[in-house]
Amino acid sequence: MEDCIFCKIVHGKIPVNKIYENDNFIAFPDAAPQTEGHTLIVTKKHFVNSMDLPGSLGYGFLDAVKSIAEIKIKEGFDGFNIVQNNFSSAGQVVMHCHFHFLPRKNGDGKHLRLVK
Ligand code: AMP
Ligand code: ZN
Repeated sequence: MEDCIFCKIVHGKIPVNKIYENDNFIAFPDAAPQTEGHTLIVTKKHFVNSMDLPGSLGYGFLDAVKSIAEIKIKEGFDGFNIVQNNFSSAGQVVMHCHFHFLPRKNGDGKHLRLVK
């Protein structure tokens, strides 16, 4: 996908500070962080969202979540939220499958609302 920003990142055409990588996912900081440490978990292949993500990638996704959580907990975070927007009606802007990893600290004053 030539015009896809996340494909460009996956293929090294746009540099990012890679936090984690496995066979099917990479993770890097969100350019407009909603919390300290806001990280994107992005598929290496171009899928649009969860609807065309093969179920077999679920294992790698969970490995990514747990590995990033371990990194963030070592950095001093106490917990995390995982959020995914599917289709523009739900707020998806980048049409390449990704998940938001939002590290949390006790008493950080952030309030995740499932739907605003
Ligand atoms: P979504 O609304 O779920 O599609 O979120 C897309 C996210 O991608 C937003 O939080 C953006 O800040 C983030 N984003 C867009 N372009 C970049 C980029 N080049 N590097 C890092 N994050 C990006
Ligand atoms: Zn893409």
